[in-house]
Amino acid sequence: MKDPVFLQDEHRMLKDTARRFVDEEVRPNGDAWEEAGEIPRETYRRMGELGFFGIRSPEQYGGTDMDAVAMVALWEEIAKSSYGGLGGSAAAHSEMAMPHLIRYGTDAQKDRLLPDLIEGKKVSAITVTEPDGGSDVAGLKTRAVRKGNDSWVLNGSKVFITNGCLADVYMVAARTDPEAKGSRGITMFLVEKDTPGLNVAKRLDKHGWRCSDTAELVFDDCEIPFENILGEENKGFYAVMDNFQNERMVAGALCLGEAMHAIEITTQHVKDRKAFGGTLWDKQVVRHKLATLEMKVEAGRHLTYHCAWLDGQGVNCVKEVSMLKAYMGELVNEVMYDCLQLHGGMGFMTESPIERMSRDARVAAIGGGATEVMLEEVAKRM
Ligand SMILES: Cc1cc2nc3c(=O)[nH]c(=O)nc-3n(C[C@H](O)[C@H](O)[C@H](O)COP(=O)(O)OP(=O)(O)OC[C@H]3O[C@@H](n4cnc5c(N)ncnc54)[C@H](O)[C@@H]3O)c2cc1C
Repeated sequence: MKDPVFLQDEHRMLKDTARRFVDEEVRPNGDAWEEAGEIPRETYRRMGELGFFGIRSPEQYGGTDMDAVAMVALWEEIAKSSYGGLGGSAAAHSEMAMPHLIRYGTDAQKDRLLPDLIEGKKVSAITVTEPDGGSDVAGLKTRAVRKGNDSWVLNGSKVFITNGCLADVYMVAARTDPEAKGSRGITMFLVEKDTPGLNVAKRLDKHGWRCSDTAELVFDDCEIPFENILGEENKGFYAVMDNFQNERMVAGALCLGEAMHAIEITTQHVKDRKAFGGTLWDKQVVRHKLATLEMKVEAGRHLTYHCAWLDGQGVNCVKEVSMLKAYMGELVNEVMYDCLQLHGGMGFMTESPIERMSRDARVAAIGGGATEVMLEEVAKRM
């Protein structure tokens, strides 16, 4: 496929670096990570060293302060590794959790934490979802109560938290004003690993993204310093919503890379596979199936880069980004279903990458805003 119009030389260089990393350091190790149920810390450090975690961070902290086009270009390439859990975990750190610190942190908070997060020496997690609900962020129940002017005390639980076991820094959404209606009484906090009262209650077992650690957390009288408030008191909901834009663009880019890679390996497979006196590719129905997927993914690729470009122009693009998340979350599943089908019985075997990829894709229509929730965002703007 030809490069999207928005790609500049700096984006191409970043993609080349990511492609080499995927070939040399992800593909040989991915199965072991799946088995272990997490991405090793050394891999976070390596990704930090390669500059992958600082592309949206200010230069003064060690970042490269690039645009959203760079961000989607990077995660598209990482997703082509075929290990969905790697993109899920690493992007949850740099594009979903870290932006809360970058955008709303004080200078002191950034000085203390951001360089290590950019270098991958520390890992971060975003903790919003609760056992009683994820789509309805305004309904969250975890409480943060002020203790004089010295500290905040958190109580409650969070679920499905990516990097939940490994993280050193958790960005936590909690209710600070129980009287305020829904969205108005929520505040973000920084909670650091080993804070008494922060318990990783359970490592969760999952259908896909098996190399990504996902955990349930319990805050039990977890006392944090007063200055660990992140952004303005009672404005946390807006910070979460604001950052959803970033998160959903990255989700679109991850789906894009996964879908492109699935089509590539499946096309190769059907061109090699002999049946009925020719190859599977000789069957028009097979060719048209793949051509149809290629066409839809190409449309999704343009929407992905268009959203990133709009974001870079400072244009409000909630509608477009919601379309992207809904479209790519569904499309990647359609692609995986058809590509697995074209692999036949081998596609059903765990030794086949397409089997893992089709399990990994399922979460794309759920996490970070389910398709139905995204369509509501689109509908509200029609
Ligand atoms: C692997 C994984 C990793 C995750 N990582 C994180 C993380 O790091 N941090 C974090 O905070 N959260 C994380 N999540 C949580 C994720 O964002 C939520 O699962 C998601 O927002 C859906 O919330 P829920 O699971 O509570 O489903 P619910 O809110 O109960 O929704 C269930 C289903 O109901 C439907 N639905 C919901 N609302 C509507 C509506 N308004 N209209 C029509 N239909 C609707 C949808 O089909 C939806 O899938 C992760 C989830 C998974 C599976």
